[in-house]
Amino acid sequence: MDYKDLVGFYKKLGSTQSSLEKTSILSDLFSGKDDRELEILVKLCMGRIFSAWKDEDIGISSKLMVKALKKVSGSGEKAINQEWKSTGDLGKTAENLLGRKRQQTFAVRKLTVEKVHENLKAVADFEGSGSQSRKIDNISELLSMANPEEAKYIVRTVLRNMRLGVGEGIVRDAILEAFFPIILDIKDAMGEDIREKDVLIDKKVSNDFLEEEKEFEPEIFNFGSVKISEIEYDRFDVIILDKTDARKLYSYLKDAVQHGYDVTNDFGDVAVTAKNRGIKGLLGLEMKIFRPVNAMLAKKVDTIKEGFETVGKPAGVDYKYDGMRAQLHKKDDEVKVFTRRLDDVTEQFPDVEKAVKEFVKSDECIIDSELVAYDPDDGSTVPFQKLSKRIKRKYDIDEMVENIPVEIRPFDIIYLEKALIKRKYSERFEKLESIIEEENDVIRLVDRMVTDNEEDVNSMQQRSLSEGQEGIMMKNLDAEYKPGSRVGYMVKLKPVMETLDLVIIGAEWSEGRRSGWLGSLTMGCKDDDGNYLEVGKLATGLTDKQLEEITNRLEPLIVEEDGRQVKVSPEVVVEAEFEEIQKSPTYTSGFALRFPRLKRFRDDKEDADSIEKVARLYKSQN
Ligand code: ATP
Repeated sequence: MDYKDLVGFYKKLGSTQSSLEKTSILSDLFSGKDDRELEILVKLCMGRIFSAWKDEDIGISSKLMVKALKKVSGSGEKAINQEWKSTGDLGKTAENLLGRKRQQTFAVRKLTVEKVHENLKAVADFEGSGSQSRKIDNISELLSMANPEEAKYIVRTVLRNMRLGVGEGIVRDAILEAFFPIILDIKDAMGEDIREKDVLIDKKVSNDFLEEEKEFEPEIFNFGSVKISEIEYDRFDVIILDKTDARKLYSYLKDAVQHGYDVTNDFGDVAVTAKNRGIKGLLGLEMKIFRPVNAMLAKKVDTIKEGFETVGKPAGVDYKYDGMRAQLHKKDDEVKVFTRRLDDVTEQFPDVEKAVKEFVKSDECIIDSELVAYDPDDGSTVPFQKLSKRIKRKYDIDEMVENIPVEIRPFDIIYLEKALIKRKYSERFEKLESIIEEENDVIRLVDRMVTDNEEDVNSMQQRSLSEGQEGIMMKNLDAEYKPGSRVGYMVKLKPVMETLDLVIIGAEWSEGRRSGWLGSLTMGCKDDDGNYLEVGKLATGLTDKQLEEITNRLEPLIVEEDGRQVKVSPEVVVEAEFEEIQKSPTYTSGFALRFPRLKRFRDDKEDADSIEKVARLYKSQN
């Protein structure tokens, strides 16, 4: 295909905002191409040169591109920068500059899609000394063969800024439209404006898995069954009688294409498979070790109750660590570590590579985990900001390993000798447990429990936060693993409320292991007359260290004792986090903090926040 024809498609894509229209344009582009061309077109329309899972980058910045444009356009850097400033787009700048030049020279040669793609791929391979000038030479050579419009899109491709609004969903739907019939129910089919293409189910599909008048139940996607019947109607092979069934079938086909992408992370492969091997081919696509897949993401919830509503009861509840997501691939004695953006960081994390080799008892697996950094001196958690220094590090890696060691906290498994993404999370976790040999400071399964009790979740949340982690994750035990999706199969709960500074006005002598320590702190805010009004009790989630400090501070302040209860002079100010504020007759302020947690002592403050602030925060929740 000539590159200029692809540019025609780019222009059409850029001229509409409608996803449906974009899908249709792409579907036309994909139809009738041979495998090689199809693979390249799928990548190029997404503004990519390599597949999503390949950790390769062409390595040309805007600055280098200006140099290439200088070479090919004959304009000076200053003029180019000026033009760039006014267009805000180096692609458009290239078009303008070359447009002016071409009025004098007409040396444009015919560029094919394959040629452009090959050249760009080659540019990525230049490495080491002198590679920058070779990159510039190569790009300027390619631009010199292009007409101004083509140059615009070549520049945009190189800079990964296509401005076409073509995302993964659109490409998936376009593959569906290009290689599978569009599903319509009979009412639509009887309508006037049906294109020949809008048949219901054609023979190709029906031979694959549909038999007339029979129910079919696909093995992988369990959505029930669809009843098909053949009707004499000249334009269609099969007509689906019911709109719901039509929708089910459409989802089935769409899920098959999505499945192909989920496991391969490569729409090029998906398109070629859809074209040649249909649904069966797509469903047969498999995950491959060392080809990372997109990580499943979490939805955010504000309360534990909402968490349970989203993921169901009981749920798996994990610590949410303040670390770095890592997908760990292992095959025999080889291990690779990928970031959430699918970059290969094995070189930066030789400690993780070694640990996986030693403590993961499987010859073929993909594990989802969080790498949590700790202070080598006292073992305390080090925040992600510090750990992030290790991600791009190219030198002194051993020193980094020593100064910022990490512990691997595996929380899911997506492959164990075969893909597990369609398996229930509870099953996956069992498999994960069976292959991890735990070793302190090296690799330990996540802190986790299975519960349906809000109080238990709260205690875990408190512990997680007091240990310097971010909060908790709640997970649906029956859910599959959905790569790349922010579905509600797992949710994150982090404290988001504004905090309150409160004064401790009472406490209780603890019992059992903690007897001798004051705990269960009554906290107060202040009214206009200077009185302290209770807003709740801070009872759970206090560490031994905190209890000891609290006792040391409060004991000298005790003014009244009644059994285990004590009243203290209102002098210690604490900053409290909490999940929400509720109305409550139990406390003198009329409000109660739900699940309060001690964030820190506010020695810099002498007084508590006012009842007005509590009331304001209460109102702002609704
Ligand atoms: P955030 O900034 O909150 O980490 P995010 O956009 O990076 O959000 P989300 O999917 O929204 O990612 O939140 C889940 C993230 O939390 C994961 O990407 C992972 O890095 C991290 N995480 C920490 N502990 C866990 C755990 N036990 N289970 C799953 N993810 C965890």
